[in-house]
Amino acid sequence: MKIAKRSMFTGKVNEMDLDVTPEQIAAFEGGRGLVQDIFPNLTAGEREFLLNGVTPEEWEVGMGPPPDEDTLLCLHCENDIPEDAIEHETQRQWQCPSCDAWNDKEEAS
Ligand SMILES: [Zn+2]
Repeated sequence: MKIAKRSMFTGKVNEMDLDVTPEQIAAFEGGRGLVQDIFPNLTAGEREFLLNGVTPEEWEVGMGPPPDEDTLLCLHCENDIPEDAIEHETQRQWQCPSCDAWNDKEEAS
């Protein structure tokens, strides 16, 4: 069925034709359970649309492609920490070039 939702990104009303039933929508709107339990048949992008009206296309435009798994992100400002960032002399830490905060140098899990 066709679902119309206002996008939290663009504020415009998007429509998606999703493989859902009115019963599922009623359960979702009544807050009866987790979105992934109510709509096990939908993709993550389709569930995202139900939650905040953002279509998969808008995610790509608004967020860019998902970051590489081994990209380091600063815990303080969430900017990328480049590979050649300053490394702490004794501890396994990187210094963020954007906000100068030190971040533990952890492998992405
Ligand atoms: Zn930072």
